[in-house]
Amino acid sequence: MSRIAVAGFQHETNTFASLQATLADFQAADAWPGLTAGPAMFAAVRGINLPAAGFIDEARSLGHELAPLLWCSAQPSAHVTRDAFETIASRLLELLSAEHSLDAVYLDLHGAMVAEHIEDADGELLERVRRAIGPDVLLVASLDFHANVSPRMVAHADALVSFRSYPHVDMTDTGVRAAALLHDSLQNPARAKWHRSLPFLMPLTSQCTLIEPLHSVMEHARRLERDPILSLCLTPGFPAADVPECGPAIFGFAREPAPLERAAHELAEAVLGREAEFALSTILIDSAVRIARDADVPRGRPLILADTQDNPGAGGNADTTSLLKALIASGVEGVLAGVFWDAECAARAHAAGRGASVELQLGAHTGYPGETPITARFTVEQLGDGRFTGTGPFYLGGRFELGPMALLRVGEVRVVVASRKQQAADAAMFRHVGAEPSQARVLVLKSSVHFRADFGGFASRIVLVEAPGPNLADPARLPFTRLPAGKRLKPRT
Ligand SMILES: [Zn+2]
Repeated sequence: MSRIAVAGFQHETNTFASLQATLADFQAADAWPGLTAGPAMFAAVRGINLPAAGFIDEARSLGHELAPLLWCSAQPSAHVTRDAFETIASRLLELLSAEHSLDAVYLDLHGAMVAEHIEDADGELLERVRRAIGPDVLLVASLDFHANVSPRMVAHADALVSFRSYPHVDMTDTGVRAAALLHDSLQNPARAKWHRSLPFLMPLTSQCTLIEPLHSVMEHARRLERDPILSLCLTPGFPAADVPECGPAIFGFAREPAPLERAAHELAEAVLGREAEFALSTILIDSAVRIARDADVPRGRPLILADTQDNPGAGGNADTTSLLKALIASGVEGVLAGVFWDAECAARAHAAGRGASVELQLGAHTGYPGETPITARFTVEQLGDGRFTGTGPFYLGGRFELGPMALLRVGEVRVVVASRKQQAADAAMFRHVGAEPSQARVLVLKSSVHFRADFGGFASRIVLVEAPGPNLADPARLPFTRLPAGKRLKPRT
């Protein structure tokens, strides 16, 4: 039996977004727990599709004793403030230094965190933890599929392991893999590491593992991860980050260098050989509206329009209105849209009450250029307190706290609004206010890819729409200044 300290500190930073992640953002619960320290952390993550939850269960069943430090995350956004990073990192290290006789530390990280004052915040955190524990205590971390992995992160960890799916339906499983990896490493640690960045940025919507080419590439990666390789990972990266390590990377840990090197090269070739297939595939609002108006949509099999550029899971604010306005103006029937982040509209709907008709200005409150609210008289169809449990494969078990919510209707369009922003990636976010997404004719979702886990099964067609929004679908349109020379901003076709 070994003694293992457990901590989590996750953020996916869109350095081009407008709102920063403050300490309060990490303290508040959303679909995932707010900042929780000490033994309460175990209960906070239990049963949720999160790496820490999988790690804790698996490490315990392997007979290890666990020391809880803290766990927190915040919604993807612009930089983590200096105050938030330093407060949380100091608290983590303080709790770590109070632990004695540790054999290992496990960190549940995202891998694409950028703080105001530190470009590679995950590398910095791993380095600080390494400095605190010394060279002989094992340090293992799990990473998101969107990690922008740096050599510094690889250098300070004894092993790293990342998700293999997007939508991330394997977060718990990745924690289980991390526990198994750590368990093996306690007996016989990795002696070889490998890390290489790939030379092009991959648009988020092309990173989906339910479709080609990544479906096959990830299967290939899974087959290559075998003894003496402890972990072999491909992270497509989070493209909206102006940092030198932005983009896809391959990394691994093994007991012998040569097989790792061979497998890593083979995986790199598998990605590079299909580069053209990663090209962005989106349509503009006019085409989307035409499709939505004219489509012959079977009952119970909605057409999904993914409003990817306003995805709050990647730095959007879930409040742009252009797509919805165009659908309203064209009289498109049977539209259900969500989830808008608009605390004021939610509050006014609650004040007016269920069944009331109320004049509202919906959306566009965060000031994205050119966006204006939808000013109309809405009917308040249903209200909710924003507290419910995730039921889809991605947010499974998540104990949502989205504040007051409402289902509003204007003509043929119904809109779900919440008081906290959260990616529309779970049908429970709609059912909570009485809207059944599978019964809509046209479903408009503030999401890029994660929605596919819970909504993809009943969709008759999925269309990725490039409506105005802060999360630009095409990385080539982002004003990068920190990328190394030679990095391609889009796949070569
Ligand atoms: Zn991710």
